[in-house]
Amino acid sequence: MATSETGHRSVETDVVVVGAGIAGLSAGTRLAEHGLDVHVLEARDRVGGRVFNIEFDGQPNELGGQWIAPYQSAAHAMLEDLGIDLFDSYRDGEHVFIGAGGRAQRFEGDAEPLSGDSARAYDEAVERLDKLAAMLDPEAPWDHPDAAEWDAVPFEQWLRTDVRDDLARDLLRAFLAGGFMTKPATSFSLLSGLATVAGAGSVANLFEPDLCLHSRVVGGSQVIPMRLAERLGHDRVHFGAPARGCRYIDDHVTVEADGVTVEARHAIFAVPPNLTARIAWDPPLPPWRMRLEQDISQGSVLKVLAVYDEPFWRADGLSGQAFAPYEFVRELYDNTPPAGAPGVLCTFVAGERCEDAERLDPQARRGAILEGMAAFEGPKALQPVDYVELNWSAEEWTRGAYAATFAVGGLSRFGPDLRRPIGPIHWASSDLAGVGHMHMEGAIRSGQAAADAVLDSRSG
Ligand code: FAD
Repeated sequence: MATSETGHRSVETDVVVVGAGIAGLSAGTRLAEHGLDVHVLEARDRVGGRVFNIEFDGQPNELGGQWIAPYQSAAHAMLEDLGIDLFDSYRDGEHVFIGAGGRAQRFEGDAEPLSGDSARAYDEAVERLDKLAAMLDPEAPWDHPDAAEWDAVPFEQWLRTDVRDDLARDLLRAFLAGGFMTKPATSFSLLSGLATVAGAGSVANLFEPDLCLHSRVVGGSQVIPMRLAERLGHDRVHFGAPARGCRYIDDHVTVEADGVTVEARHAIFAVPPNLTARIAWDPPLPPWRMRLEQDISQGSVLKVLAVYDEPFWRADGLSGQAFAPYEFVRELYDNTPPAGAPGVLCTFVAGERCEDAERLDPQARRGAILEGMAAFEGPKALQPVDYVELNWSAEEWTRGAYAATFAVGGLSRFGPDLRRPIGPIHWASSDLAGVGHMHMEGAIRSGQAAADAVLDSRSG
C-alpha cells in the first residue's frame, strides 16, 4: 500500500470487496482462506451495515437485524466457526393481540386468538402459500413455468381473491407485507411473496414466532461482522471509504473510493442492489443491469427500542410479544438482554406506517409509538428511561430495509440477471440470496457464493 502526500492511499490486491456488511466480509474471509489478498472498502465508519449494535447500561442490543432461526444453517455454521453463542429470545408468559375491535386480548402459544372462521381461513391461506412456494426453486423462482403469471398478480390481489375472511387476510398482509417486505401489498407480486417464503423454507419458518424469533446473538449481532473483520485483518478494511467510481476491463478493476484507490483482478460489490446505480461505472453497466437497478427498491422501516429499569411486563405475566394488525404499532417484542436488565421493548414501524411516522414531528412520533406499546403492556410503557429509533430509509448507505425487492412483474423479468457477473465484477447481498433471502443467512450465503464464483473464474 502506498500513501501520497495528500494522504490518499493506493492499494494493489487480488480482490476488492465493496461493503463490509455480513455479505462482503463473508466473501472476503472465504477468499482469504483460499490464499487470496483482499481489501474491503466500507462507506461507514463501522462494519455490519444492516446489523448495528447499541448498548444500554453496558449491555449490547441491536438497531438492525437480530434474530436467528433454527433453519438458518449457514448462520449457525458461521457462529460456531467464529465461537459466537446464541441465547433464546424471551417469550415466556402471555402474548397480547389487538384485533379490529381495538380490545387487548391475552393469549398463549403461537396462534393469535382468532374466531373459528378466521382461524380456518388463515390456516388454509398459509397452506396454499406453502404449497405454491414449495413448487419454486428458491435460488431461481423465475424458472417456474407460472412465474410470469404469478409475478403479474399484486400480492394484495391474491389476498383479496384467495383469502375469504377479513381478519385472516389483514393478518397475513400485516405479517408478510408489513413484517417482511416492508412495502404495501399492492407494490410486490405474489411471486415475490412466494419467493420470500421459499427462501425461508415455509411460512412457519418465515414468520412463526417460535421459529423466526428463536435466538439472539450473545454480544449483539454486530459481533458477527466484527469477528469476520478481525479474521480478515483490520488493515484490510478501509472505513469512511465509499466507492464512488469503478473502471473495469476483462481482468482488471480500479475502484476509486474516498481516501483510497484499489486496483484488483476481481471485485465483489457487496452493497444493497438499490445503491449500485450511484457508482460511476466506466464503461457504463450493460443495459439489462441498469434496467434491473431501476426496478429494485428497499422497503421502509423504523426500528424502536424503549428502555426501562426492568422488564416490568414480565411481573404481570406478559411475554412482551404482541401483535395488532390494525394499529399504528403493529408488533412488539421483549429485547431485554440475557442479564435480565434493563428491560427493553422493541418494535418495527414498517411500510406505510413508517411513511406515516415520518410525517410526525419527533415528539409526536415518540408519543404515538409509546402509546402503541402501552396499549399492549400497560401505562408503564409510556415512561421509558431511554428511547432510541433508527429510520433505515435515512441511512445513506442502505436507504431502507429490510431488503430490496422488485416491483410487480420485476422478479420474473430481471431475476435471472440478479447475480450475473459483468466481466471481473461480482455481486453479493442478502437481497440477492435465494435461501435466507433478506436475512443474515442470505447475506452469508450470497457472500460465500460470490467468493466461490471468483475462485472458479480464476481456476477456469
Ligand atoms: P448490508 O448490511 O447492507 O451491508 C452493505 C455494506 O455496504 C454496508 O456496510 C454499507 O455501508 C456498505 N456500502 C454501501 N454502499 C457503499 C459504497 N458505495 N462503498 C462502500 N461501502 C458501501 N436479518 C435477520 O437475519 N434477522 C433479523 O432479525 C433481521 N431483522 C432486521 C431488522 C432491521 C431493522 C434491519 C435493517 C435488517 C434486519 N435483518 C434481519 C436483515 C439483515 O440485517 C440484512 O439482510 C443483512 O444484514 C444484510 O447484509 P449485507 O451484507 O447483504 O448488506
